[in-house]
Amino acid sequence: MEEPVKTPGDTADEPRDFIRQRIERDIEAGQLPDGVVTRFPPEPNGFLHIGHAKSICLNFGVAEEYGGHTYLRFDDTNPIKEDEAYVKAIQEDVSWLGFEWTALTHASDYFEELYKFAVDLINDGKAYVDSQDAEAIRAGRGTLTEPGVNSPHRDRSVAENLDLFTRMRAGEFADGEHVLRAKIDMSSPNINMRDPVLYRIRHVTHQRTGDAWCIYPMYDFTHCISDALEGITHSLCTLEFEDHRPLYDWVLDNSNVNFHPPQIEFSRLGLEYTVMSKRLLNRLVDENLVSGWDDPRMPTIAGLRRRGVRPAAIREFCRRVGVTKQDNIIEMNLLEFCIRADLESSAPRGMGVLKPLKVTVTNWPGDEETLEGPWHGKNEALGTRTLPFSGELWIEQDDFAMEPPKKWKRLSPGEMVRLRYAFIIRCDEVITDADGAVVELKCTYFPESRSGSDTSGLKPKGVIHWVSAAHAVAVQINDYGRLFRVPAPTADTFLDDINPDSLEVLNGYVEPAIMSSESRHFQFERLGYFYKDPHADGQFNKTVSLREGF
Ligand code: ATP
Ligand code: MG
Repeated sequence: MEEPVKTPGDTADEPRDFIRQRIERDIEAGQLPDGVVTRFPPEPNGFLHIGHAKSICLNFGVAEEYGGHTYLRFDDTNPIKEDEAYVKAIQEDVSWLGFEWTALTHASDYFEELYKFAVDLINDGKAYVDSQDAEAIRAGRGTLTEPGVNSPHRDRSVAENLDLFTRMRAGEFADGEHVLRAKIDMSSPNINMRDPVLYRIRHVTHQRTGDAWCIYPMYDFTHCISDALEGITHSLCTLEFEDHRPLYDWVLDNSNVNFHPPQIEFSRLGLEYTVMSKRLLNRLVDENLVSGWDDPRMPTIAGLRRRGVRPAAIREFCRRVGVTKQDNIIEMNLLEFCIRADLESSAPRGMGVLKPLKVTVTNWPGDEETLEGPWHGKNEALGTRTLPFSGELWIEQDDFAMEPPKKWKRLSPGEMVRLRYAFIIRCDEVITDADGAVVELKCTYFPESRSGSDTSGLKPKGVIHWVSAAHAVAVQINDYGRLFRVPAPTADTFLDDINPDSLEVLNGYVEPAIMSSESRHFQFERLGYFYKDPHADGQFNKTVSLREGF
């Protein structure tokens, strides 16, 4: 973990991370007259995950903190994998996290300009058309220990290069017949500098530009020029791009742009028991191992939202993780801590029974009684709700023990327990089925033990939750566990490491006020936090348990 877990509210006087320190120095040096300009540049080839949230919080966060603005830029240069549906989902997720972009752009907005910059490079003798196939180009690039070899087409004349590049654009060649390469240094110790490909031919329809183009610029050419055109003052990216920085700088140094942003790298967020790559998450979706990108077990923003996580919890998590140059896998406990801390004081607390056991109150007079309880013991602003009570109740199977262990504070034969906000009951008789399983408890209730006006003098050891069988609403409760069995699933074996028991579906009951409340987030007392699924009526998704390790 990059920063120890602190108690909530512990935010003052933190040391600034290295990126914020850099921005503060730039401001002091008078280098940011128009403020900080950042961008969040996702490729629309999947839904955003919590790793992206780290980048979003950083990019939008610094612009907010220091004054400035942030572009949401879709890096849409690879039409084969990209989809307009992802563009929509990404916008929804960034907004939901609470950030506003000043402009929404696409790398494809710059295709025409990028093409002109490429032509300029050709005219300057800094780019050439290579006609080797992909395999030969790869082989010619050499290895970490061996220099590359020059392509036989490296010394084509400017005129020939211009002619071929124009015809590439015009669609005269098939995919892979030619590429445009930068002419840098085939023996550079940095393989990215060994004449990287700038353009390739792809006869595919682009989700935005349609069939206008059949050549598409590569990331390393597109990204830096897009940053320059947008006047990005700090191009923040993850560490795997450190080795690309010389190329980022080379392209800008050799192109006629009037702005040269610095690229600054920070560590990727990794999280235990999950995978954090759109490509791998896409396989989980494609192979139906989850119900979709928004399956509550997914580390996607949409999945976390559907689980019942709120934006503030994700932002707090990102703040605590911090920004460093150290790659790390963060413990799930930190995320769960933030989720719990966010819901603790604001989610109403009601009663739900996950594994119901029937209780018959044998001395119940038969009328219905309406009790009342606060929605939250410590947050009066949430108000109260009514609780119907009757002669048939559901309690939790786990709250009854035929042979109670020592210090048992719940129900057992002959013993008493208080029903939360209601009465004390005593278990008089246990009904079992043919296999000996407990199916019903016959209990007595004590009318004078009503919560708030208890004159019974009885002192049961514990309090349990319950619902009235006649009034409770039957619901499906989805209890989610970890999606993977191992803390750090790898790309090669992650499908074998899936936890087969990551979803337990329970048929339980909730008190009626939970169904009629406008809130979707609840604590079910003694059980955890649950979220009324907006896409599946009558279903609740478990957001997080009440304590660590459950
Ligand atoms: P993925 O492998 O999940 O597709 P990516 O890096 O290819 O990740 P992009 O859509 O290119 O995804 O990412 C947009 C931005 O989000 C980039 O600046 C990238 O560095 C950042 N980002 C992606 N994953 C993480 C992560 N795990 N932690 C921090 N930032 C991330
Ligand atoms: Mg990517």
